[in-house]
Amino acid sequence: MSKSEFIIEVNHVSKQFEDGKFALNDVSLQVKKGEFVTILGPSGCGKTTLLRCIAGFQVASSGEILLKGEDVTKTPPYQRPVNTVFQKYALFPHLNVFNNVAFGLKLKKEAPETIKKKVRQALKMANLTGYEEREVDTLSGGQQQRVAIARAIVNKPEVLLLDEPLSALDLKMRHDMQIELKELHEKLGITFIYVTHDQEEALTLSDRVVVMSEGKIQQIGTPTDIYNEPQNCFVADFIGESNILSGTMIRDKRVEFCGQEFDCIDTGFGENNPVDVVIRPEDIYIWAVPKQTENGKLKTENFEDVDPEDRVPKGKFTKWYGEVQSCIFKGVHYEMRVLTPDGYEFLIQDYHEYLPETEVGMLVRPEDIQIMKKEHYIWNYFEGEVLKNGKVWFLDAEWEVDEKQLESFAPGDKVRVRVKFRDIDLQDYEEEGTLSGEVHFILYKGNHYHLTIRTDEGHDLYVNTNDVWDDGDRVGIVIPKNKIKLDKWENE
Ligand code: ATP
Repeated sequence: MSKSEFIIEVNHVSKQFEDGKFALNDVSLQVKKGEFVTILGPSGCGKTTLLRCIAGFQVASSGEILLKGEDVTKTPPYQRPVNTVFQKYALFPHLNVFNNVAFGLKLKKEAPETIKKKVRQALKMANLTGYEEREVDTLSGGQQQRVAIARAIVNKPEVLLLDEPLSALDLKMRHDMQIELKELHEKLGITFIYVTHDQEEALTLSDRVVVMSEGKIQQIGTPTDIYNEPQNCFVADFIGESNILSGTMIRDKRVEFCGQEFDCIDTGFGENNPVDVVIRPEDIYIWAVPKQTENGKLKTENFEDVDPEDRVPKGKFTKWYGEVQSCIFKGVHYEMRVLTPDGYEFLIQDYHEYLPETEVGMLVRPEDIQIMKKEHYIWNYFEGEVLKNGKVWFLDAEWEVDEKQLESFAPGDKVRVRVKFRDIDLQDYEEEGTLSGEVHFILYKGNHYHLTIRTDEGHDLYVNTNDVWDDGDRVGIVIPKNKIKLDKWENE
């Protein structure tokens, strides 16, 4: 595709604020004319900053932004062919609907007849015909939002930027407005860039979704791609519900997880390599099986012989089983948590209800097993230095280590420090740790939690634990000295 066929090009844009924090970190994105693209991610991930850089309210620290092939990185907002609808509608309370929409046109001193015509058209587009004389503070939230949209489209911008425009509305109104926005996009035929933290909204509205986390783009794709083929654990976890498990890719199209081997369709992960396995809850077939318990223990024999119900695919699929722990009705389907004899928990959605204590068989088709490269595996690695006092400096703190580990090093030596995810202890009280930090990201891996802990100095470390923590919990970080391993530093 030639350059000019993209209406928006964001090339390697970073935005660093005065406090040194990067709100955007090397972000690149191309948008085609007429596309509906949604930027989706948790609070603070940089969505608004990206939108504001495109709008011109913020200037990128590095990288470039092109609109219609022209570099606008430093162009002021009013000279860009874009308009923005903000989260807070920013309407003028003392003006009626007509005058709110006409405001910009009057500033530009357009002829009264032209203004009338344009405002009428914009109000029609926004389903507000007949509301011209109404004072804005007599309107409902949804109607006020439509006025804000009418005001943004009255000048026929080529790109409409929408920053969480529906967040102030109640659920029913949100759904109605989503449909209206989709229709408006079709009627106007212009490019929409939409920011939301609501994944359902993103999947419903968009041609393409850009998933962001911590100032970086994690994945760009159609809603179906993003849902069915998440590229990493963050996306799998953030979009919809997932079972995410640690596994081993035995060879092409064969993977092991929760103690069993399964056929899958993925290739190119090598042999015997650690991977993450993602299975959506609706992709697991479930059926009741005769009691598998013997002397209080689940038994495995004869399990394969159980004849599944008709709706379960027939064939040589790996089956596994467990016991239903909980069952919640979710309006259309039931959501069950099922525990396997080995202690792995699966989330399963099905139209049939299986009550707690029911023993069930489970099956997943090879094409519904999604394999992802493991981003980190077993060990944390840190850069460290041996100190004169026999301790080791890493993560901006002094740590005691076993003397044995120090044998081949002298004070001042740079070392590579290794600590297993399992070997880091988290304490409820910050002061009990050598370091303190915050639980930053939690991934449930079926039989344990994989946490990202951000230290107060801004370092990330990974912890595997069976303890239950919440996002944002403050923790003390303890690493027992016999769990700290030192290797020779090699420049990577
Ligand atoms: P939300 O959904 O909560 O609006 P967001 O994804 O839109 O979040 P941004 O508003 O883009 O996130 O902010 C990204 C990060 O940059 C946040 O950590 C925020 O605190 C920081 N940030 C934003 N604006 C500034 C600023 N003017 N000065 C310093 N830091 C800022």
